Amino acid sequence: MFGQGLIKGLSITLKHLFDKKLTEEYPEVKPNLPDSFKGSFMLKVPKCIACGLCANACPNNVIKIESEKDENNKKKLTGYKMMAERCLYCGFCVEACPTKALLWTKEFENAVYIREMVNLDLFSSYVPSPDDEKPAKPKKQDEETAQAS
Ligand code: SF4
Ligand code: SF4
Repeated sequence: MFGQGLIKGLSITLKHLFDKKLTEEYPEVKPNLPDSFKGSFMLKVPKCIACGLCANACPNNVIKIESEKDENNKKKLTGYKMMAERCLYCGFCVEACPTKALLWTKEFENAVYIREMVNLDLFSSYVPSPDDEKPAKPKKQDEETAQAS
């Protein structure tokens, strides 16, 4: 029928005219971002065991870890830098972390005037939180194989 498309289009326009408005008043009101949003990074330093799995998983050599041995000959994190200007936001590093020390944040207002300023020093910028004190026990491959057999 002639004009059928026009009528259909106008009916959709009319429907949306009276729908609840979805406009977000940013920056006055911060947007409600999904949990999967990848904004920036956060490192829960006490949970980090300096294993280096995140750095190994990174395809673009973004992560630089510094560590030393403590009195019990265990690795202790002494530095954690991210050359975020090279980051692909692939998330491999976060997925690889066995203790959930490295996490995404919803911080998205990351624009800066100088390129180098996007780089992150997650060790020095860490703010202690009581929830971070105990490092999560990493999954041991032997435990999994023992359970399977
Ligand atoms: S998100 Fe991807 S590119 Fe960025 S630091 Fe992690 S592994 Fe590397
Ligand atoms: S993978 Fe996790 S625990 Fe290992 S060095 Fe990276 S942030 Fe630390």
